[in-house]
Amino acid sequence: MPHYDKPYSRKWFRALEAFDPSKAEITRLALLRAGGNLDVCQICGDSPAADYQLIGDMEPDAVAVARLCDYCLNLKIAIHKEKFIPYKPANLDSHL
Ligand SMILES: [Zn+2]
Repeated sequence: MPHYDKPYSRKWFRALEAFDPSKAEITRLALLRAGGNLDVCQICGDSPAADYQLIGDMEPDAVAVARLCDYCLNLKIAIHKEKFIPYKPANLDSHL
């Protein structure tokens, strides 16, 4: 089952580390550059950023929640054809 943990939580990092170690490393560097500000995009480190939940087909152990700025969100939608909805823990009920 995909992981729906809150971005930057310990569980989220553990899941991302297992699923895509290079993405986990990119995120660590982005957070390091942000100097402790956690309200930043997991890819580029810009703020503001919001949490989004990936919907549609994905690998069974995918990390399905991302914290993204508008720019990176739009890139993922345009280039990777990924679909997102705003992340609210309440959304999970319909996916579990
Ligand atoms: Zn970004």
